[in-house]
Amino acid sequence: MNLSTTYYGGGVAVSEVEESIFYLRYVAECYPCRAFHFCCTFGVGVPAALVSVLHEHVGLEVYMETSKSEWFDQFDAGSRVWRTQTKNGYCVFFNVNGGGCYIHRYCVSVKEMDYRMLKPVACCLFPLTVTDRTLRPADLLTCPSLEQSLPLSMCRRSRVSLYQGVRDDLRFYFGPSLVAELDARQARESQ
Ligand code: SF4
Repeated sequence: MNLSTTYYGGGVAVSEVEESIFYLRYVAECYPCRAFHFCCTFGVGVPAALVSVLHEHVGLEVYMETSKSEWFDQFDAGSRVWRTQTKNGYCVFFNVNGGGCYIHRYCVSVKEMDYRMLKPVACCLFPLTVTDRTLRPADLLTCPSLEQSLPLSMCRRSRVSLYQGVRDDLRFYFGPSLVAELDARQARESQ
């Protein structure tokens, strides 16, 4: 689906949308999901600008009890993106004891700020991603904890489409006009 214009947000541009995001469904909330944070096992790419901002948050270092020198380990000079380290089988920012993302909890519980100010855009938009200006399902959609390893996108427990699950985050990054376009398309899907 071609959008009426190109929308910019979170460091990316979107001018097309893959139709499957309106009918593929998944468990949008982390805790009822039986995959239990499988999506956080690989680490994530973080733009250098956001890495600098994260490094200014000394409180985050204290909160997660991990030195910031251990947060990132690979740097892609071409895209200027750092990769988070993985530790104990998860992204270094994943709380293996309490579950959930330390960045997210730090924002909400300690700083009382919108988590999207510090959490990587790739995490906030998951299970959607943007490649070649197209908003589409992320490649990582195979869930090992579901019976018969059903693709996560086929989970029938939820009535929430991939788009509906990240609708608020899309509005945060790209604005209400994009969401209005996508809402209209979603409404046709739901009829
Ligand atoms: S930054 Fe947080 S949400 Fe993103 S992969 Fe790491 S633990 Fe998961």
